[in-house]
Amino acid sequence: MKRIKFNMGWAITLFFAGLASQLSAQNYPFELPKLPYGYNALEPAIDAATMEIHYSKHHAAYVKNLNNAVKGSNVEGHSLEELMLHVSVLPDAIRNNAGGHYNHSMYWAILALDHPFDSTSEVGKAVIRTFNSVDSLKRMLNKAGATRFGSGWAWLYVTTDKKLAVCSSPNQDNPIMDVSPERGIPILAIDVWEHAYYLKYQNKRGDYLAAMLNAINWDVVNKNYTEALASPLLKTIEKHRTGKK
Ligand code: MN
Repeated sequence: MKRIKFNMGWAITLFFAGLASQLSAQNYPFELPKLPYGYNALEPAIDAATMEIHYSKHHAAYVKNLNNAVKGSNVEGHSLEELMLHVSVLPDAIRNNAGGHYNHSMYWAILALDHPFDSTSEVGKAVIRTFNSVDSLKRMLNKAGATRFGSGWAWLYVTTDKKLAVCSSPNQDNPIMDVSPERGIPILAIDVWEHAYYLKYQNKRGDYLAAMLNAINWDVVNKNYTEALASPLLKTIEKHRTGKK
């Protein structure tokens, strides 16, 4: 009887781990995910030329450089999640390219013009509860992205106590990484590197952010939210944090 219970527990854990992030569970060799739409699908928020260069050159390079960085090393068999959890003791090439791969994969997935905010969805209810309105959340995300000096990302993420929060990160860092002052699981990512917007918006990062925040696929963000709440990764991050104190 005990044995059955143990196996059931494992089956449930693995089930949720699988749901939590198929991407995070990826191992070497890492692969560029298929873009879920055409390069022009997000016009006029973002133009096809930017999308094509961003996806086929920038993201592809992060994947290639990540594979080069882990190949033959003692972390070759580690998942993307495991790499990100330990970037503080890994070479910068792994920190930058593991983040570059994970962050861009989330960015493509959470963008769309035809999946508007739904205040009755799970994440919709949590957004209203936490930020009062989706407009107030958008203002916070815009500010987080606009005030990030240099290159980086704006995030909506689930904290280790299962709350929603907004932050930004430098370069290709993200809240899963052990170097991040804000820890948790991202559910919405906005790239604020100049390569993400310069062709169309030049120096007007705030205008780019405003347009992208109206091009969010809230169905995917809702899926990311419910998966993050159930993910064992949240407990892992909490354990890391506690261990450091
Ligand atoms: Mn980018």
